[in-house]
Amino acid sequence: MLLQIAKLGHPILRRIAEPLTLDELHDPDISRLIDDMIATMRDHEGIGLAAPQVFVTKRILIVELRPSPRTPGTPSLPLKVMLNPEITIRSADTIPVWEGCLSVDNLRGLVRRPSAITVHYSDRQGDERTLDLDGLAAVIVQHEMDHLDGQLFLDRMDDMTRLAHQREFERFWQTALPQLVD
Ligand code: ZN
Repeated sequence: MLLQIAKLGHPILRRIAEPLTLDELHDPDISRLIDDMIATMRDHEGIGLAAPQVFVTKRILIVELRPSPRTPGTPSLPLKVMLNPEITIRSADTIPVWEGCLSVDNLRGLVRRPSAITVHYSDRQGDERTLDLDGLAAVIVQHEMDHLDGQLFLDRMDDMTRLAHQREFERFWQTALPQLVD
């Protein structure tokens, strides 16, 4: 089932999401929610989605980077479902990415984030996982993690002159920098 996306200004996007309990890790309702999140992300051609974006304040995020002929050189990351994720920054280096968000229609903003992270999480089976991520994959997980803490990419921008409507982004700002929509 495709889910409605919460949009900028809805208070649910500003709440701190609750951790999943052990029981919830194996709850069929949560499993159905995750399936619906995956379908919704793919339907929007997004590369990530966090539960608060579908009006559920639980610490669930999904990411999936697919190779695309339109964006050669983009790394791929097979679908990951991360429950109760925690991030450790592994590098002081940052990378600039023009981010977008399914909850912030039609806008893109330039954000700098650490380029390498380690993420610990439980998978759908409840098994503990650790994953080292670099580059765009690291950025997406940080963007989704922010949603679990009531933050949006707009809050991470340090130069608001680098906020653009999608159409003007394509006209004036589109460069070799990686883009991101989630
Ligand atoms: Zn987002």
